[in-house]
Amino acid sequence: MNLTRFARVKLTPSATPLEFLPRLTKHLGGPDLYIKRDDHTGLALGGNKTRKLEFLIGDALAKGATHILTQGATQSNHVRQTIAAANKFGLRSTILLEERVSGAHDDYYANGNVLLDQLLGAAIETRPAGLDMNREMEAVGERLRGAGEVPYLIPGGGSNAIGALGYVVSALELAAQANEQRLHIDCVVHATGSTGTQAGFVTGIEGSNSRIPVLGISVRAPREKQEENVRRLAHETWELLGIRGEFPDAAVAVNADYVGGGYGVPTEGMIEAVQLLARQEGILLDPVYTGKAFAGLVDLIRKGHFRKGENLVFLHTGGATGLFAYRSILAPQPAFAR
Ligand SMILES: *Cc1c(COP(=O)(O)O)cnc(C)c1O
Repeated sequence: MNLTRFARVKLTPSATPLEFLPRLTKHLGGPDLYIKRDDHTGLALGGNKTRKLEFLIGDALAKGATHILTQGATQSNHVRQTIAAANKFGLRSTILLEERVSGAHDDYYANGNVLLDQLLGAAIETRPAGLDMNREMEAVGERLRGAGEVPYLIPGGGSNAIGALGYVVSALELAAQANEQRLHIDCVVHATGSTGTQAGFVTGIEGSNSRIPVLGISVRAPREKQEENVRRLAHETWELLGIRGEFPDAAVAVNADYVGGGYGVPTEGMIEAVQLLARQEGILLDPVYTGKAFAGLVDLIRKGHFRKGENLVFLHTGGATGLFAYRSILAPQPAFAR
């Protein structure tokens, strides 16, 4: 697979680690658990969007853009990483934050990613829930064009075929690490939202004939809808890369049993999963994506869906910044009585 013909900037200095989780494996008594540290991609606290942004910012620069425009939920990790990447290449940025979660605590609107968005210095606009956010972004793009800027619009989550190339890279990287460590991987499990991660990852795995099953755990959409959305983007990414034959639809599998009350709405399982990995291995998950995906992984192990002797890799997509926005849920009792 040849990725050299796509414009790309360097944001992640080296391969992210693939680590064994000995204490958690023993604690759960099931399959051997590994973690791929895409939370350590190295840009402004990192996460999966940084991999997509290598290609998106590369494309923006190739097209002479002066201004990056994107959108996301209030606590979007994508937005934070996008502003940081734009800054690194001297591009201005405007972001639209959608109030997708209602009635949350003050921290949700001011701390975590929102704090960092302000610190990083983008122009921030907010929108109520339920609008067509891509259309909102188009309108802002027109305004910027009128002011003499060359705007480059990045869809929510950086999830188009160009962004998904970042996860093709991640899949090739993991397959190479597995070969090097002589680790037979029975399944890769990760959180799936705007679909670019899973679409790129399965394209990389299938396009390189690596034969590693992938399970996406949905944080928002029902299973069939999410599978359909991932497949659509995987087909586009497959085509962009010019891989021979047809993308195999059967490679896309989603479980949507761990969404709970909706996107960004905490679940008991999420809280348990965040505490479990923190306390067994000292690794921080996030409340919106990886916490729910890991809750799914733990539950599926407990239900015997995965067996002892199998090797599972959890793809950690980042987001721990969001923990600070959920203080009232994760640490309801302050440590200091003041
Ligand atoms: C965006 C995000 C995801 C989901 O990735 P998609 O490409 O949007 O499906 C998972 N984890 C974290 C921490 C994220 O920020």
